[in-house]
Amino acid sequence: MAERFDFVIIGNSAAGLQALQTLRRHDRQSTIAVIDREDRTAYSRVLTPYYVGGHISREQLDIVELDFYTLLGVTTLFGQTVVAINPEEHRVELADSRQIGFGKLLLATGSEARTLAVAAKRSCVLRHMADAERLVELLKDARSVTAIGAGLVSLPLLSHAHDSMEKHLVIGSNRIFSRVVDAEAAALIEEMLTAQGLNLHKQDDIHTIDETHQMNMTLRSGKQLTSDLLIVGKGVKPNIQLAADAGLEVADGVCIDRFCCSSHPDIFAAGDAAEGADFITGEATIQGNWMTAVEQGENAALNMLDRRCAYQGSLKNNITEIFGIDVAAVGYCDDDVSKTLTFWNRLTGRFRKVFLDEQQRVVGATMIGETNDSGYFYHLVSTRSRFPGKASMSGGCNYPRVQLPLDI
Ligand SMILES: Cc1cc2nc3c(=O)[nH]c(=O)nc-3n(C[C@H](O)[C@H](O)[C@H](O)COP(=O)(O)OP(=O)(O)OC[C@H]3O[C@@H](n4cnc5c(N)ncnc54)[C@H](O)[C@@H]3O)c2cc1C
Repeated sequence: MAERFDFVIIGNSAAGLQALQTLRRHDRQSTIAVIDREDRTAYSRVLTPYYVGGHISREQLDIVELDFYTLLGVTTLFGQTVVAINPEEHRVELADSRQIGFGKLLLATGSEARTLAVAAKRSCVLRHMADAERLVELLKDARSVTAIGAGLVSLPLLSHAHDSMEKHLVIGSNRIFSRVVDAEAAALIEEMLTAQGLNLHKQDDIHTIDETHQMNMTLRSGKQLTSDLLIVGKGVKPNIQLAADAGLEVADGVCIDRFCCSSHPDIFAAGDAAEGADFITGEATIQGNWMTAVEQGENAALNMLDRRCAYQGSLKNNITEIFGIDVAAVGYCDDDVSKTLTFWNRLTGRFRKVFLDEQQRVVGATMIGETNDSGYFYHLVSTRSRFPGKASMSGGCNYPRVQLPLDI
């Protein structure tokens, strides 16, 4: 006979944890189980580069205390992998063949880091705690480090590696952070990073690796790099296999509607594994950020409780610090909008670019320099507000420049 819970959550991270808290906030009676193949309480993946770089301790990554789950009256099945879902019979199967029945199920299975086609012993991705611990070891004696991929993993990791190290970054595109900020902001960040000694190899890739002594890498361009360690930050692939095998509708992620519900009425999905509407474009998107995972986890839980509640759509929302420079991007930050406004003060290093639609509403913003106003821009975007004007820009951003599309 299978154990049965009213609610089962697979994934004990941003989306799963928020769902768990929301379920309990509204319902003290139902039985809840949370399953995760990582055998530990929830921690912040976002902060792992700081841990790897030695800036914070392992304990500072923890989001909840040990007794958190007990206090909420939740059953934890940590260190357990779900290998199959049977939607008709409302149960999941664990790797040890145990069957767990559910009333409603949440897939908060996140994603995995993409690895390199060329195998290498001294290369490492960063997604899970085990990766972080391996990187700490690999970095111990390293004097030079190369990273591939210029996103939210490689750049923070390079940035937090010790200043005495020689640092190389290899990227396939013609600019860094191409999925995070616009081209103008990227160019400025590149200038700032190279001024700090980062060696940037754009529109290139790693072709071969020889690890006989150190890591000798030949790039596609023919350049040779020698490093003690290679960090692979080539994006992520959502964990959708369970859903696909169960016959749920999947695309890049598990397809969800405005209620974070999958194609099965009792199975919901949230976070990096889920593909739902973008707030600005309405297109099916995986934002891959912590805040979207939290919002969708909350929304899924409310709908699992039958409190019909539509999610307004996800927004890009990235805030990070690299090489001592704060960078943030909120909403839609591509130059194909109706109008952009750029505010840039070279003296203070403060850059703001605001993206407006045809009705002068703010659809996105990129920020460099201190990013305290990212919440303000998040508010403007999420309330579809018009840009209040230059006077609203705190912090001495002068030199405004208005850019209109060429066809206007
Ligand atoms: C190094 C790094 C830096 C980042 N920086 C930022 C940042 O600055 N800002 C930002 O917004 N976001 C950042 N992110 C992204 C952010 O961490 C993710 O968007 C967020 O963690 C997604 O949460 P999630 O709950 O959807 O999935 P995840 O955090 O991926 O968690 C999914 C969980 O499901 C478990 N699981 C999966 N499959 C199974 C299975 N079959 N059985 C049991 N358990 C399973 C996994 O073990 C995992 O614990 C960063 C990520 C990394 C790795």
